[in-house]
Amino acid sequence: YLSMSMGITLYPKDSDEVTDLIMNADLAMYTVKETGKNNYAFYSNEMKTKIREKSRIERRLRRAIEKDDFKLVYQPQVSAIDGTVCGYEALLRLKDGSSSPGEFIPVAEDTGLIIDIGRWVTYEVIRQLSIWKNEGMNMKTIAINFSAKQLNDGNYVEFLSNLLRQYDVASNLIEIEITETILLGEKIETIETLKNIKNLGISLSLDDFGRGYSSINYLTYLPLDKIKLDKSLSDKFLYEDIDVINNIISLAHSLGFIVVAEGVETEEQFVKICSTECNIIQGFYLSKPIENYQVVDINDGVYNLCFEKNKLQ
Ligand code: C2E
Ligand code: CA
Ligand code: CA
Repeated sequence: YLSMSMGITLYPKDSDEVTDLIMNADLAMYTVKETGKNNYAFYSNEMKTKIREKSRIERRLRRAIEKDDFKLVYQPQVSAIDGTVCGYEALLRLKDGSSSPGEFIPVAEDTGLIIDIGRWVTYEVIRQLSIWKNEGMNMKTIAINFSAKQLNDGNYVEFLSNLLRQYDVASNLIEIEITETILLGEKIETIETLKNIKNLGISLSLDDFGRGYSSINYLTYLPLDKIKLDKSLSDKFLYEDIDVINNIISLAHSLGFIVVAEGVETEEQFVKICSTECNIIQGFYLSKPIENYQVVDINDGVYNLCFEKNKLQ
């Protein structure tokens, strides 16, 4: 079988320059290829805007890697049993805030820059943990987001284990968050890499569960410790069909996983999620991601969970 992707531009509507017209058609064709091939598309100005925006972000990222222009913020994860802070998720920011991770992470993934950026995040988390350790802070786990594209970073596990040794940080203080897209390549090495990470003593969380094509199958063959219920799942089911959430949580528990609810934004959501058997809560309602110097202030605090069955003792 032959298949075909076609880009079309119109003369004189789009341009009256031959070179522009060819470039436009080319751009339209690449848009088709990116969105599943075997189709056609007409050139539009938005295509050009998008590509310009992407190369602007790419340039910004390259400069940020060179100039050390990234920073991490930390969002607390709170125990639903006793309200204590049990850990943090490290989230990447550009120091100048010129674009958000939702915008720049996909560009970093597309361009391969995620390899260097992912290593910087790992380095920064471990460096920060060693600083907190030396300051005598009560240590909590930090979760690092690991993009599927970082599987192309062949030496990542070695890099990680060397850093832990170099900074004398216990591996059980690190958690790696993956999403199910990690399995799209269907490579045997993927599971091997995840097992190697676990063999270091690091725990693995499945992020965004319920956002995409979440399959129960993934839960049985990924070497997981935690499941993070995506915000969209609670937005959809928490109010009217809380049984759905309850059943997902008991399924996860029966497979031996800890359950984290993400994106808990309102008091109502918070009260609802506390009425379930969910183990850990994360969301703006409790705290937005905070700067490293603010972590010290809240680290030993206890959030008030004063409602529902003996949650506050
Ligand atoms: P994620 O891993 O699902 O991270 C959670 C996102 O939800 C964060 O957005 C966080 O600020 C936001 N969030 C937390 N609580 C709430 C809430 O109550 N309501 C709402 N509406 N949002 C909430 P952020 O920091 O903008 O990051 C977006 C995504 O970018 C992350 O989603 C993750 O996929 C990616 N990302 C961020 N940092 C990194 C990183 O260091 N490495 C990689 N590979 N990806 C990262
Ligand atoms: Ca995450
Ligand atoms: Ca998530």
